[in-house]
Amino acid sequence: MAVDLSVEKVTKTFGDFTAVSDVSFAVEKGRFFSILGPSGCGKTTLLRMIAGFIEPTGGRILIRGSDMAGRAPNRRPVNLIFQHLALFPMMNVAGNIAFGLERRKEKKPDIDRKVAEILERVGLPGFGSKKIDQLSGGQKQRVAIARCLVLDPAVLLLDEPLGALDLKLREQMKVELKKLQVQVGTTFIYITHDQSEALVMSDHVAVMNNGRFEQVDTPRNLYAHPKTPFVARFVGDNNAWKGTVRDQQEDLCRLETADGQMFTAAGAPDLAPGATVAFFIRPEAIIIAPEAGVQHFNRLTVTIRSILFDGANSRLLATPGDGGEELMIALPQNRQYDHLAVGDRIDIGWNARSASCFKVS
Ligand code: ATP
Repeated sequence: MAVDLSVEKVTKTFGDFTAVSDVSFAVEKGRFFSILGPSGCGKTTLLRMIAGFIEPTGGRILIRGSDMAGRAPNRRPVNLIFQHLALFPMMNVAGNIAFGLERRKEKKPDIDRKVAEILERVGLPGFGSKKIDQLSGGQKQRVAIARCLVLDPAVLLLDEPLGALDLKLREQMKVELKKLQVQVGTTFIYITHDQSEALVMSDHVAVMNNGRFEQVDTPRNLYAHPKTPFVARFVGDNNAWKGTVRDQQEDLCRLETADGQMFTAAGAPDLAPGATVAFFIRPEAIIIAPEAGVQHFNRLTVTIRSILFDGANSRLLATPGDGGEELMIALPQNRQYDHLAVGDRIDIGWNARSASCFKVS
């Protein structure tokens, strides 16, 4: 498969501050690749280096095999979409889309044909003469994308483009943007701090923290097999504990938490007795009223503190005993636990192998 974007050991420092540190990844043609991380982790800096607005301090960026070092933004086969779509309000839709083609001095009949074609492709046929302020938020989004795609970039860079939309429109646009990307087949590099956007839309996601990539993986693998404590915390809900390894057998170890609970967890082979570990259990991996006698099963009695119902799902917040760390438990959707109430004490458990376990220093 052809690689559209290749980032090799890229670093960016501002004075003595390292904003992007030794980042490497490659994106195959036609993929939706997201860079996900908290505010300030270096996502925008990385994207701006790919776009050519700033040069890396070290490393190389190749687009379709060509080294981009020293090449101006307008001479790179990329386009960038910002959160504020930067459409020209005085021009109609066709004028906005034609702008880049006119700057390239393309011929009028070619421009008209390309504008009509791209409007068709983004699902806005016949919208050319509409004013920008006559469009909905989602339609503006599509015009912004059309304006870039009409220039036929190798890679489209999207900098939190859904950030300014209200929640409902964001939800719709996540699905629309993914459909649109599949339909047009252009490589998308999408940056966001919203893990649900990244998981829903992407073929691959890079989780970024403090200027580094922690893990690059498919959404499913990121969720099911986080490779670092940061990824376990940042992607999806997770219950987190700290414990000390008491003994270890093959890939299983027994852990003791600060409040004296003993658990079994599957962990890395270097978890020697005495090591401090962080371990994580997904809310949906916790089973209510587990059967007795199942091997490697952790058990706990908890008190329900609150019940969170959001229409599709119900979750419990519960604490062991009368206090201690709060746990989130996802209830199965068959509504068999509708009778549970705040204050109830319930037995819960989880399989040792459903927890992710990491050594921490
Ligand atoms: P956000 O989601 O808030 O936009 P981000 O992950 O995109 O955050 P960046 O904008 O890439 O983060 O910034 C990464 C770090 O680099 C921040 O600490 C920022 O203050 C710093 N930084 C970015 N640009 C410069 C600059 N020109 N000079 C000095 N520091 C900078």
